[in-house]
Amino acid sequence: MHYRYHKMADKIINGYHITENEALSLLNAETPEDIFTYMSAANRIRSFYKKTIVELCAIINAKSGNCSENCSFCNQSAHHNTDVVQYEMISSDKIVNQFEQLKTQNATSIGIVTSGKGLINPKDIETVCTAFEKLRDCSPVCRCASFGILPKKILLKLKKAGLHKYHHNLETAESFFHNICTTHTYQERADTIKTAKSIGLKVCSGALFGLGESPKQRVELAFALRDLNVDKVPLNFLNPIKGTPAENNKPLSPLEIFKIISLFRFVLPDKDIGVCGGREINLRGLQPLIYIAGANAVMVGNYLTTSGRNTAEDLQDIKDLGLAPLELADYSFLLSKN
Ligand code: SF4
Repeated sequence: MHYRYHKMADKIINGYHITENEALSLLNAETPEDIFTYMSAANRIRSFYKKTIVELCAIINAKSGNCSENCSFCNQSAHHNTDVVQYEMISSDKIVNQFEQLKTQNATSIGIVTSGKGLINPKDIETVCTAFEKLRDCSPVCRCASFGILPKKILLKLKKAGLHKYHHNLETAESFFHNICTTHTYQERADTIKTAKSIGLKVCSGALFGLGESPKQRVELAFALRDLNVDKVPLNFLNPIKGTPAENNKPLSPLEIFKIISLFRFVLPDKDIGVCGGREINLRGLQPLIYIAGANAVMVGNYLTTSGRNTAEDLQDIKDLGLAPLELADYSFLLSKN
């Protein structure tokens, strides 16, 4: 019966678009044997579209904490009582220095991230634009930003300064969103993604799992991202942080996480699917299996407010599996095509 996963993978490799009901039925995999077969079918789709290449991305936390929003999982929200480090926007020189440092860790896509609903302070916008202008002249790396909900005018200004890709997660399914945030709407998030796409920016948009969403809502989210035609999908898995409303959420099991990664590979077969926050705590020694489950990208280095894994271990996993990190020269080529 588990050959159905490979039959569906064959259809997808031949250009078929899976339906929501078919995707939901894939998530019925329950026994380890079924889940391994499901992952191996997702691996075939990854291998067909992405060959042996893994993209490494990294982030810079340029403005931390004191956020007006109440996202239930986030220790940067001013609504929650956490011990997160808070600071205002760092200088453009500091951003450039950290950017160059992350390049030495094989990251070919580097994002500047700020806390808050949206980066609208003119001084802050000038700082990040100055950083992008400096980086534009010296770095062949994909320049990414995650500045929250933004209007077209500011996105255009960022693009002009040298931004390639905008990161903005949907966070969770529309039907579940009110459970994780009430200070802004799912629609505001989706609109920012549509605007970024409309002006020609690449878009990286994904979600966080383990918030209490159902399998059906995971499928709903995957199809929403397919409809938005995002270029890259970062998958995060809850690392419950003390002082946040999600601090007592039950962690997802590694097999549950692999089912989610494989789901996204089946629904978005030719997109970049990355695994980011929460992999160390939730997957432990099974982290290399993210690639077998269908991922072709990984975030390296530290996360916004928590420590990440040693990049050398990620590079070793990639090499041991017969895969290879995307090289800067390849990235320059990809960027020049866009
Ligand atoms: S996820 Fe972003 S918008 Fe939500 S509380 Fe954290 S920093 Fe603010």
